[in-house]
Amino acid sequence: MSKSDSHKDVEVVTFGCRLNISESEVMRDHARDAGMDDAIIFNTCAVTKEAERQARQAIRKARRENPDKQIIVTGCSAQVNPDMYEKMPEIDQIIGNDLKLKRETWGIRHNDRVLVNDIMEVRETAGHLVEGFEGHTRAFVQVQNGCDHRCTFCIIPYGRGNSRSVPIGVISEQIGKLVTEGYQEIVFTGVDVTSYGPDLPGKPTLGQMIRRVLALNPDLKRVRMSSLDPVEIDNDLWDLIANEPRLMPHLHLSLQSGDDLILKRMKRRHLRQDAIEMCKRARDLRPDLAFGADIIAGFPTETDKMFNNTMAIVEECDLTYLHVFPYSEREGTPAAKIPSQVPVPIRKERAATLRALGDKQMQKLLNNNMNKELKIVVEKKGRGRAENFCPVKVYGEYPQGSLLTVRTISIEDDHLIADVIS
Ligand code: SF4
Repeated sequence: MSKSDSHKDVEVVTFGCRLNISESEVMRDHARDAGMDDAIIFNTCAVTKEAERQARQAIRKARRENPDKQIIVTGCSAQVNPDMYEKMPEIDQIIGNDLKLKRETWGIRHNDRVLVNDIMEVRETAGHLVEGFEGHTRAFVQVQNGCDHRCTFCIIPYGRGNSRSVPIGVISEQIGKLVTEGYQEIVFTGVDVTSYGPDLPGKPTLGQMIRRVLALNPDLKRVRMSSLDPVEIDNDLWDLIANEPRLMPHLHLSLQSGDDLILKRMKRRHLRQDAIEMCKRARDLRPDLAFGADIIAGFPTETDKMFNNTMAIVEECDLTYLHVFPYSEREGTPAAKIPSQVPVPIRKERAATLRALGDKQMQKLLNNNMNKELKIVVEKKGRGRAENFCPVKVYGEYPQGSLLTVRTISIEDDHLIADVIS
């Protein structure tokens, strides 16, 4: 959860993913332009029950502390569960995921308290030119929204609708604006970014879009992408991985499991061998590549043996930045109806075991990056990220967002210590 400063200004409380972070900036701009400086906007997430519980808790606290402010709830949880929020007297307005991005939604008192339309009817995702990303060093630029897949554990398509892409021209204009604002690093963000393009004229692929945007923005220094489907990398993207220095050597995979039977029961498009071959091919093309991955622990029917296949794939693909989620039933998803659910304590235990392996993998990556010259973008308090996303700390005052060349000299906990060269 991230919160913006609350003096006479629109306050936005964001839960969940990078897409929500980028959309919170859009809503902040719309609400500010509409003079709504007495509003608190909650941009919720529906990925887990826990995320929804935290949102409800934060809303109640905000109402206690701000009896006169307007409280507006939006985001995926408001889209899939509007009734749950309608029952909460603390809330003034409930807005769905499509209407939240429309300028005309903000600044007027609506007759209806619940403004949630059928997200599956939404065909377009208009890009939004945001001013910047409060408190963030990298800018999350939305290039795609929604998802056409129906993984059995996932509620997201019901919150965000079907896949739709932002036209290349709009993306490039947004990036031009952000580069002028001083952003050195852009993250192409979406729900399922490898689904970019088939709904646009000429059906550009993700790789073709990135190549075009980089050509149109020569001053843009560094780009990354949000989660990738391991079997949906297009040829242009392979070529960029191999030859484009501005595409950072860091890919985050939507892997979810390392066991084939579980992957089938999740209705994923890849098997474990596909992921292993994808990582090998990418590293052959770009040896300094580091991988992150989303993994679910304790999916229904997962046995110890199946879980061990997931543990094994972390080392077989040499994954580092693990985002591990203990499986969370989501009402309305097929997986929640599977009779043999894994007991919650075992889910949590497996998640902890995976995270511990992730920490070990991180130490390995830090060791591999010792005594090296790296380029980092400074975030806060002398902390920054190298091109392969390695966390690095430098001593001395450097403005947030500055690009530094450093030499790594030691390891401290979960990051490298480095001297600044230039
Ligand atoms: S690809 Fe699967 S996990 Fe990802 S958003 Fe779509 S349905 Fe959910």
